[in-house]
Amino acid sequence: MQNPLLGQETLPPFTRIRPEHVEPGVRELLARGRTRIEAIAALEKPTFATVVEPLEELQHQVSRSWSPVSHLNAVVNSDALRVGYNACLPLMSAYQTDLAQSEPLYHAYRTIAEQEGATLGPVQKQVIEHALRDFKLAGVGLDIARKERFKTVMLELTQLQAKFEENVLDATNGWTYRITDAAELRGLNEMLVDQARRRAHDERIEGWILTLDQPTYVAVVTDAESESLRRAFYEAWSTRASDQGPNAGRWDNSAVMEDILRKRYEAAQLLGFRSYAEFALSTRMAHSVEEVMQFLHELAQSARGAAQREFDELAAFAGRKLSAWDVGFYAERLQRSRYCVSQEELRPYFPLPRVLAGLFEVAERLFGVRIRERQGVPVWHPDVRFFDIESAEGQAIGSFYLDAYARPNKRSGAWMDECVGRKRLSSGLAQPVAYLVCNFLAPGENRPALLTHDDVLTLFHEFGHGLHHLLTRVDYPSIAGINGVAWDAVELPSQFLENYAWDREVLRRISSHVQTGAPLPEEMQSRLVATRSFHAGLQMMRQLEFALFDFRMHAEYDPQRGGRVLEMLNEVRKEVAVVPVPEWNRFPNSFGHIFSGGYAAGYYSYKWAEVLAADAFAAFEETGVFNRGTAQRFLDSILSRGGSRDALEAFIEFRGRRPEVKALLRQHGILATGELAA
Ligand SMILES: [Zn+2]
Repeated sequence: MQNPLLGQETLPPFTRIRPEHVEPGVRELLARGRTRIEAIAALEKPTFATVVEPLEELQHQVSRSWSPVSHLNAVVNSDALRVGYNACLPLMSAYQTDLAQSEPLYHAYRTIAEQEGATLGPVQKQVIEHALRDFKLAGVGLDIARKERFKTVMLELTQLQAKFEENVLDATNGWTYRITDAAELRGLNEMLVDQARRRAHDERIEGWILTLDQPTYVAVVTDAESESLRRAFYEAWSTRASDQGPNAGRWDNSAVMEDILRKRYEAAQLLGFRSYAEFALSTRMAHSVEEVMQFLHELAQSARGAAQREFDELAAFAGRKLSAWDVGFYAERLQRSRYCVSQEELRPYFPLPRVLAGLFEVAERLFGVRIRERQGVPVWHPDVRFFDIESAEGQAIGSFYLDAYARPNKRSGAWMDECVGRKRLSSGLAQPVAYLVCNFLAPGENRPALLTHDDVLTLFHEFGHGLHHLLTRVDYPSIAGINGVAWDAVELPSQFLENYAWDREVLRRISSHVQTGAPLPEEMQSRLVATRSFHAGLQMMRQLEFALFDFRMHAEYDPQRGGRVLEMLNEVRKEVAVVPVPEWNRFPNSFGHIFSGGYAAGYYSYKWAEVLAADAFAAFEETGVFNRGTAQRFLDSILSRGGSRDALEAFIEFRGRRPEVKALLRQHGILATGELAA
C-alpha cells in the first residue's frame, strides 16, 4: 500500500499515518524532490515558467507532506513518532540547504530576473527577489568548505532545537504533585479539582494528583490559597529542563542552549554577519540592532514608572513582601477587589461553542466570509474539529482544524501552523488549510469546555494568524499566507484580532452562561473591559525583559565568553525587572520561543507587531470597528498579501502613514498617565 504521507490528497489522511511511515515516506519524498531539482537545474534556457513555477510546486508538495509529521510530533507525541521525526530532521535540513545553496538554481534565478524582469508582475518579481535573498542567506556564494560547514551547522541546529523541545516536554510530563489534604486545594476551581481526583482514582491512589500542564500551572499560581502549593508549582515550572528544582539535572537544557547559541553565531559569521541578530534582521521589518534596542528601550522608559507603581501597590495590598509565586495570586485578588471580576468567575459565561460561533461571526462580518463545520474528516484525536471557510457567494477559500484541549504528550501553548499552503500554479490550485492548536481545560462529563477571558484572547489571537494564512490571495507558496512575511510583522493580524475580544458588542455575542444562557451582563462587561489596562506596566516590562534578553543574547554573543545566558538575563533584569525573581529560576531553559521556535533574536516582534496592530485597530475605531470599507482595505493591503510586498509599505498603504507607538500606549492606559509626551 502506498505510504500515506506521499499521496497528494486534499487533506492528510491522519487516521492512516503511523510512525513507521515517517522515515521511509520522507526519504522517498526528498529523493523525488532531488531528481526534480536536478532536472530543473540542468535546463539550458531557464524561464519563470520552467524553473520558478516548478520549484514553487515542489516546495508546496514537500511542505504538505512534512507538515503532518511535525504536527503529529507536537500534538500526539510518542516514542515511536519521536524516533521517526528525529531521523527525518537531518534529511529535511540537508535537502533544504542543498536546494538553497544550489549554484545552478541561483544563476537560473538571476538570469530570469535579468531577462524577464521587465515583463513579470510585481508578485512574481517578489518571488524572485525573496529567492535570491534566501540563496545568499543560505551561503550560495561561499567556497565549498564554508558551504559544507554552513550546511552542517544548520543541521546540528535543527537537531539541537528538537532536543531542547523534547527536554521541555519530558520535564513537564515528568513532574506531578500529589495532595492528600483537601485544605491544600483551597481556591482551585472545581473542574481542576475534579480532574485531579479522577487522575488519582485512575492510578488507584488516595487524594488528588495535579500535573504540570499549562492550564494547571496557571490556575495554581493564580488561585491556590496555599503558598506552599504555589511555590512548589512555581519552582517545578520555572526550573523545567535545568540544573535546579525537583528534577535538577534531568533533561537539563543548559548545554543544549550553549550549543545553540554557538552554532547560530557561527552560521551568522560564515555569511559575513557580525552576530546572529544581524543575520536575523536581514529579513525583518526592523533594519538594525540599534533600531530594535532603541525601540525596546523607548517602551521600557514609557512603562517603567507605571510598572513600579503597580508593583508597590500590589505589595501594599498584600500587606507583605511578595515572592515571585505570590504575584499572580495577589494580582488576581487585587483585580477582583477592584473590578469585582475574576477569570474563574468568567468561565461559565464562555462555553467554547458559543465563543467559536461569536468569533466566526466577527470574521464573517469583517471579511464577508462564511465558516461551517465539516464532519467526517480524518483527525489525529477525537476532540479535533474541522471547519471550512468560504466566500459569501459560497466559493471555497480554505479550511482549518481546531485542536482545543490540553492533554498529555501535547506541546503546551497555542499556535497556528500551515497544513496546506495556498497555490495557484499551472499545475493546479490548492486551498490553504491551517491547524489551530490550543491547550484549554477539557470539557467535563456533562458540560462543554469553559474558557477564561484570557483563553478567549488566545483563541482570537491564533484565529488571527489563521486568517492571515487562509485569506491570502497570493498564488506562489513561498510568499503566500504567512510565508515570506517579515517575522516582526507576523504578529500583526493575530494581535489585531485580539482587540475584538474586548469589544462590548462582541463580548455580548461570544458569551452565554452555561446554565442560564444569559450573555455576560453589562456591568460585568464594564468591569472586565476596565481590567484591560490592569497591570499593563508590569506586563509590558515582563515582555520587554524577554525581548531584551533574547535580543542582546543574540546580538552580543562573544565566542570567547560563550552564551552567558544567566549573566545576560541578570543584566537585563537589573535594567527592566520590577518583580524580584529567585536566584534558582531557570526560565531560559524552557524558553521554547527562542531556543526551539522561530523567535530567535525575534521575541521583540511581539511588541513591534503590537504597535502595528494597535495602530491598525485605531483606524477601525475611527470608522467603527465593523466598518466594511476599513476591513476591506485591511484585507487588501495587509491580510491577503502574504510576503508579496514589503511590510512597511503595506502598512503605509493601509494607514496612510508610518506606524506610531501612541495607539499601543493609549490602549494599555500607559499614555493616559501623562508619562510620555510624544
Ligand atoms: Zn502569535
